Amino acid sequence: MAGSGRKLVHFGPRQVLPCPQLPYNQDVNRGIRLVILLFGPPGCGKGTQGQLILDWLPARIPAISTGEMLRAEIAAGSPLGVQTKSIIEAGVLVSDDLVNQVLRARISRPDCENGFLLDGYPRTVEQAEYLDHVLAERGMPPPVVLHLDVAADVLVGRMMSRRHCSKCNRMYNVLTMKPKTEGICDDDGAPLITRGDDREDVIRDRLQTYADVTRPVLSHYPHDRYFQIPGERSTHYVFEEITEILERFLAEEAAIEHPASASTAMSLPPATSAPGATAGSHTTSVPPAASVLSATSVTDQL
Ligand SMILES: [Zn+2]
Repeated sequence: MAGSGRKLVHFGPRQVLPCPQLPYNQDVNRGIRLVILLFGPPGCGKGTQGQLILDWLPARIPAISTGEMLRAEIAAGSPLGVQTKSIIEAGVLVSDDLVNQVLRARISRPDCENGFLLDGYPRTVEQAEYLDHVLAERGMPPPVVLHLDVAADVLVGRMMSRRHCSKCNRMYNVLTMKPKTEGICDDDGAPLITRGDDREDVIRDRLQTYADVTRPVLSHYPHDRYFQIPGERSTHYVFEEITEILERFLAEEAAIEHPASASTAMSLPPATSAPGATAGSHTTSVPPAASVLSATSVTDQL
């Protein structure tokens, strides 16, 4: 990820500020549509940022993950759900085609009218192309891709400092969330343990797989809608950078909905390119990793 040759977006020196004010009245449903794709390796803080984004946006949009989508479809007992269930029970990989169909059904629901935030999809270039197609078909704007990038060494450090209570499973971190007494759970006094999958080699393997699978998908998106965000800083700094990016796209949407009122709202230049328009300009430094896609297992999807 780091050193992939991808252009890093700089916003210059920043101050610690409260969340920026949106340039329009939040009480009015203005038909803002925003599709956000959140990418980032395990441990990058994606879940936290995703929730902050949802709380900050002027319109309510749902967060959708592939696993939740598949589970919901199974729970609903729909024909797609029945098919998904039988495939998973057979231990077979959930195909792009099936995941795509489930996604299409999910984003056709009314709660996705203003857009949605996707986490864990698309996972392959085929899925990315399918998403472009469905969005265009539904008159939705192309996605804004937010990639929280954190160096492997930092992630390894973060994850290796995790400890779990051997009794209640409460999570601690010896660097950032220490127990009151070293090695002992605050709640029940049981000893804290390190999980097997928090071993360095296991973590590095997982991060490498993530990078290999994600790289070609990220390359699919044009550079004016793709944002690599250094995720090593505090939650607040990362979120501030995200809101600056999203404000620009919200202003664009506002300009489409209300051309007169939005003309003075934002001074940032609009990003008007169609998806794929500039895709060729930033794909050369990214080697294909198609062979890794077969490693995407059912458990990854769930
Ligand atoms: Zn405990």
